[in-house]
Amino acid sequence: MGLLDGNVTLITGGGSGLGRAIVGRFVTEGARVAVLERAEDKAEQLRNDLGDAVVVEVGDVRSPADNARAVAAALAAFDHLDTFVGNAGVWDYLTRLDAMTGEQLATAFDELFAVNVKGYLLGANAAIPALRASRGSIIFTLSNAAFLPGGGGPLYTASKHAGVGLVRQLAYELETEVRVNAVAPGGMITDLRGLPSLGQDERRLQAMIDAAGGKDALVEQAGRAFFPEPDDYVLAYVVLASAGSRTTTGAIYENHGILSAPPAAR
Ligand code: NAD
Repeated sequence: MGLLDGNVTLITGGGSGLGRAIVGRFVTEGARVAVLERAEDKAEQLRNDLGDAVVVEVGDVRSPADNARAVAAALAAFDHLDTFVGNAGVWDYLTRLDAMTGEQLATAFDELFAVNVKGYLLGANAAIPALRASRGSIIFTLSNAAFLPGGGGPLYTASKHAGVGLVRQLAYELETEVRVNAVAPGGMITDLRGLPSLGQDERRLQAMIDAAGGKDALVEQAGRAFFPEPDDYVLAYVVLASAGSRTTTGAIYENHGILSAPPAAR
């Protein structure tokens, strides 16, 4: 028996990194999972890996229609919806404010906030009627950057701080009907992408960590015991989605540790 037997979840950005780890663990715990994912190759891989336990819609969280299509796909495949996980995000690769021109800043802001904030709002908006019907819940992926400096540049940090506001406001608005919580993980190596307007299309976290001397060097410099993997963060999602958390709303599970990004990774 799993902690999520009978649960139906819709997650955005389930194709790689943290989202992929959440999908895998939710299925192991008995859930069936719908995914809204931008990358076609990642969508295809998910279908191959998990078969009938998942339904994967290729689409973009910035699109109201794509979010509505993903909710409809979850309902068509699995009959109801218990949990919406807003997770798809992009990073700014620590770009400082004074490193951008005004023009770059204006475009980069729109690119980043469209995914990290508007995407969460659109997904929640599309899912709320079904979640109301099931007395379900929303979980947002935040970050150490939702509380601390140094986990991103000002754009990313502001977007994740905005996520704290979303949790508080939506938990207040939906108080008796839909629980709204978040998980704030810390650094991990994933496929997290940067902003096209800042020329970050080809940048990868792995290369950044390698340039800083590798995971072991960063762990030592930060005085940590280990470098986290996406799987290290997923239990918090399971707990928040499960019936055992039926009294929990407006909560943010901070499992990023007390440190922000290791200085050498900046
Ligand atoms: P990732 O790139 O591996 O996963 C994000 C997924 O979202 C990818 O599959 C990507 O294709 C998809 N995606 C991106 N933009 C999309 C869009 N517009 N529409 C639909 N899908 C889209 O990166 P990740 O690190 O697993 O990121 C997941 C979440 O974790 C993000 O919200 C990120 O801010 C957060 N986070 C990451 C770290 C880290 O160190 N990697 C730390 C704290 C928080």
